[in-house]
Parts: sequence; C-alpha cells; structure tokens
Amino acid sequence: MSVKIIIPMPLKQYADKKDSFEINANTVGEALRKLTEEHRELRNHLYSEDGNLRSFVNIYVNDEDVRYLDKEKTTVKEGDTISIVPSIAGGVTSNEELLKINLSNDEIRRYSRHLIMPEVGVEGQRKLKAGSVLMIGAGGLGSPTGLYLTAAGVGRIGIVDFDTVDESNLQRQVLYSTDQIGKSKLEMARERLHALNPYVKIDTYQTQLSSENALEIFKGFDVVVDGTDNFQTRYLVNDACILTGIPNVYGSIFRFEGQASVFGLEDGPCYRCLYPEPPPPGLVPSCAEGGVFGVLPGIVGSIQANEVIKILTGIGELLKGRLLLFDALKMTFRELKLRRNPECPVCGDNPTQKKLIDYEQFCGVESTWSDYKRDADYEVEVEELKKQLDGGNKPFILDVREEHEYNIANLGGRLIPLRELPSRINELDSSKEIVVYCKMGGRSQQAVEFLKGAGFRKVKNLVGGIDRWAEKIDSSMPRY
Ligand SMILES: [Zn+2]
Repeated sequence: MSVKIIIPMPLKQYADKKDSFEINANTVGEALRKLTEEHRELRNHLYSEDGNLRSFVNIYVNDEDVRYLDKEKTTVKEGDTISIVPSIAGGVTSNEELLKINLSNDEIRRYSRHLIMPEVGVEGQRKLKAGSVLMIGAGGLGSPTGLYLTAAGVGRIGIVDFDTVDESNLQRQVLYSTDQIGKSKLEMARERLHALNPYVKIDTYQTQLSSENALEIFKGFDVVVDGTDNFQTRYLVNDACILTGIPNVYGSIFRFEGQASVFGLEDGPCYRCLYPEPPPPGLVPSCAEGGVFGVLPGIVGSIQANEVIKILTGIGELLKGRLLLFDALKMTFRELKLRRNPECPVCGDNPTQKKLIDYEQFCGVESTWSDYKRDADYEVEVEELKKQLDGGNKPFILDVREEHEYNIANLGGRLIPLRELPSRINELDSSKEIVVYCKMGGRSQQAVEFLKGAGFRKVKNLVGGIDRWAEKIDSSMPRY
C-alpha cells in the first residue's frame, strides 16, 4: 500500500527538507519505521529511547488520531495520508542566543501554565522571551493580539499606530476604556500592556507606516502582525515582509467574516500571490462604512497571536499555504489551499519588484476622487443645506444608506439604498432639485454619478454626509 507521510515544518530539516514522502506500508508503525530508517535524525525526534513514540508527537491517519484507532498497529490503505503533528524545537532563535536567556523566579511563576506543557516548556518560554513582534495597528485586531502576546511573555513588542481612541472603537478594541477617548492609542496601549506584563518591552512608533519608513521599522523584528484596515498598508506590509524576510501573520475582518493566514514563510505564498491586485477603490467598503461585528476581531486577532506564538516557539503547524475563512454568523471555519505563485512580482522565482513602491497609487486611492471629478455644481455643504431647509426652499432629500442606518439617525426624505437605486429610479423626479446623502459622502457621491448618467441635472451630493451634519449642524444627533 502506498501512503503519503506529511512532514511538518519544524521536522523538515531532519528529512532532507522534504515535506512529504510516499512509502509502501501496511500499518502506521511500518510506515514510520521505514521513514526513520532512511532519516535517522528524525527517529530521535519521533521516538524515545525505549522505542515508543514520544508523548508530544501525534500521528494522524487522514484526520483521525491513531491513539483513538489501533495506535501504531493502525492499518493503512492505498492513498491514505499519515500526518506527524509534533511540538518540538525549532523556531527563529539560535541555540546560542537562547542560552543567554534566563527566566527569573518571578517569570517562572507567571508562566507556569506554559512551562508545565512539554510542547512549550522552559525552552519554548525562553524562545518567547528572546522573540520580538511588530504589530501594525493597535485597533480591533491589534487589541487581542497585543494582549495575548504580552501575556505570553514575548520579549519585545513594537506597535505602529497614529490614531487616537474614538468612542466608536470601544465596541471591539478591548485594549481601551471609556476614560481614554481622545487619547493616543499608542500611549494607552503601552500603559495597558505594561500593566499586564512588566517583563515585556513595548516599543511604540507614532507614525503612519509608509514606503519611506517601513524597512527601517521592520529591521530586527522576528515576526510582523498585520492588523491594518486598508489595502495600501496591507500591500506595503506584505512587500516589506518579503523584502526583509520576516514572516507576516495576516488577519482581516469585515462585518461577520474574517480571514487569517501566515505569509512570507519559506516556499510559502505571500498576500500578493493570493490577491495580485487590490479591488478598485470603493468596491469593498471600510469597517467605518460597512460595520464590523464586535467579537470578530477578537477571534481573528487571537488566531494571529496563536500563529505568532507557534512561529516563535517552533511548535505545531502554521497557517502556511492555507487561508482560513471564519464566518461568525454560521460559526464555521473553512480552509483554502494557497500556493506560492512562481510569477509573483514580489516573492516569485524572478521578482520584478525589489523595493517598496507608491501604494496609494497602486491601490488607486488617489484616483478615488479624481475618477468622480468632484464638481462644485453637484455638491452642497451642510451649512448651505441647513439654510435652504430653514428658508423654505426645500430640495428633495434622498438617503442612499441602509434601513438600519436610517433608523439610527436621518434627515428625513426618501430612503433608497444605493444598491436599489437603479431599479427604483422612477420614484425620483429629475426636474426637482435633489440632495443625496449617506454616512460620510462616499455612497452618495456614487449615487450622484449614477443619477447624472441617467440625465438628472439638479442632483447634489451632501459633502461629509450625515456625519458632518451631526458634527456641524445638529449636535443632538447620534453619530455612528
Ligand atoms: Zn507572492
């Protein structure tokens, strides 16, 4: 019977760097014996001196653990896959460096629940202490990642962010509290993380990550965690990781759905292999426009922290070459295979892009407005609309948001969500003056463009949307 044995990443170095073997065998024990006869070093990692499988090495046939089958006597049939799932040494820190890292008695008490697990143990905890992680963003994803990595005792954590705490962050960004609204996220994060674990060194970078500063900031970190919320920074993080050879632990969230993967590992794909080009601007709404389920970044960010800890300690199997898709409504996890694209301009066999580029241009961000050719004839400021309404010269108000947004706050008028506009255009009178609004002015701009194309000449976009109305005209109106 020909079966496939999958060698996990940390063990590849003991198996001619291969990640799988085809072996003829009738039982799991026979297959492993043949494998380890060919690769003697592997034998020491899989078996203890008395010839038994080590307790922290798990063997699976397809997706079943052999401990619950016939153990090593489990029979295999043609085409079966045997997976070795170990938890052993490896990771990014050399043994020499590691010998210099000691745990104090206080640290030993603090990390005791890790230390008593053979998969982590003193060695794994020392690796964590020797490790350094750079977090891009201290928001929804960065909150759980920062908390768990700090709690776990990662030696040095760098954080890049330039935002302040906003009231609407508190629904999911659990690093912050109500009394911190308006304060610098970095300072608040540093305080909170230091209070959680004073043994962790926190380095903050109060700046927007850019092509000019990324390589300098990345230097010296073992792992980068991508917690960004926009495409230009995401491509920048990916490319900078590939150029510096640093693994990139990726996470993204939108409404109820999350994604996670680990990019930039040897022979593994990068974000560009997955998405060679960004979506056109405006096609994928931001969390500010589309919303995000509060607990979602908690789950995805925790998955990112989980992968970081595995990279640093060298245990388990990483989310390499796999895209994990999480659906919070259905409560399902799906997994897609990702392959490195040999043609990838950044991580491919013959990379064509060897330095960082202009990511705003690459993502078409600058062209967002110029594409729409902002035209003062088709715009109205909130102050002007207020005057018009007060003066009795009332334009027809069209709200192109969703009903649940209308229910939070509205300026009256007709509600026709943007996506329904083409089929409901007959509800509008093109001879009347129409003011279109949404939350921030983006969707309404699209609506104005659409209506202009349909022959409406007296249609105007409310600049800044209802959010600016609430800010400048009606402070009693809730902002969301
Ligand atoms: Zn790539």
